[in-house]
Amino acid sequence: RSKDQGGGVYHHYQPKLHVQAEERRVMEIALRKALENDELLLNYQPVVSADTGSVVAFEALLRWNSPKFGNVSPVKFIPIAEDARLIIPIGEWVLRTACEEAMNWPSTVKVAVNVSADQLTEPDFLETVVSALQDSGLPPHRLEIEVTESIFMREGAGAAQMLDEIIALGINLSLDDFGTGYSSLGYLRKTRFTTIKVDRSFVQGAAKNVPESLAIIRAVVAMADSLGMATTAEGAETQEEVQMIQKLGCTKIQGYYFGRPMVTEDARKLFSTFDAETLEYSRKSA
Ligand code: C2E
Ligand code: MG
Ligand code: MG
Ligand code: MG
Repeated sequence: RSKDQGGGVYHHYQPKLHVQAEERRVMEIALRKALENDELLLNYQPVVSADTGSVVAFEALLRWNSPKFGNVSPVKFIPIAEDARLIIPIGEWVLRTACEEAMNWPSTVKVAVNVSADQLTEPDFLETVVSALQDSGLPPHRLEIEVTESIFMREGAGAAQMLDEIIALGINLSLDDFGTGYSSLGYLRKTRFTTIKVDRSFVQGAAKNVPESLAIIRAVVAMADSLGMATTAEGAETQEEVQMIQKLGCTKIQGYYFGRPMVTEDARKLFSTFDAETLEYSRKSA
């Protein structure tokens, strides 16, 4: 329609693109101040053992409570932080804060931290991690670093080498959102991940008996088993999903069924509702 007005295709689309770019720009400016203004916080979501229901870890999930934009989803602000290279200082804050907080939990409970490819390919990333561990006193085996498949899309061997060095430090390494990116078996051969996290879409599909989802989870579990890796099923919301995951043999489960991402105080309180001996997680109290 706008073409009739003479090359107006651009007129039709440009204003919206312009607004998006403008919003991103304004958000980036606000994000620059977010760290120093204490607008960032971490929520923690429990990861439980599929066998026993005990909490084995908490995943740290970043939240931005902006006076200007309200609560912004990480899905929206992390890409902006990455483009502006703000993910480097923000990511360091996440690592330090998560390691410090984990010191308040039972020593059997790990903390999982999401790390962007931009952070991992920084030359001093390893130093940042080591200093976060040393300053907090958290032993490396209680830290889990989560990366996505996109890490292997980077040029050069830098990323894979960095992953090997993380493993050499005794830190756990998870492959997040498995199956949603450019899944390739090549990097599962090269990198000794501790855990493969099966994306929520497969978990949902499996509970609905979608044959492809079932087949893929079975194959991932079998492959992980023989590679000596654990599996975490992401995003289990219903009892049906939990039962299906248990039947399929995933080692760990994370999802709203067991607990939503929660503020620091609630995550700590959760432990007081556990059996101190077994750390058995009581769903009713969550
Ligand atoms: P992720 O690492 O895959 O984290 C899991 C996401 O799934 C979280 O979303 C979590 O709240 C959500 N989730 C968990 N259980 C369920 C469920 O049962 N149902 C549904 N519908 N969702 C569930 P969230 O917190 O919005 O984070 C989104 C993504 O943002 C994360 O995905 C991660 O990629 C990124 N992110 C979050 N925090 C950080 C961070 O500190 N650094 C970096 N680089 N990325 C982060
Ligand atoms: Mg994650
Ligand atoms: Mg994930
Ligand atoms: Mg995910």
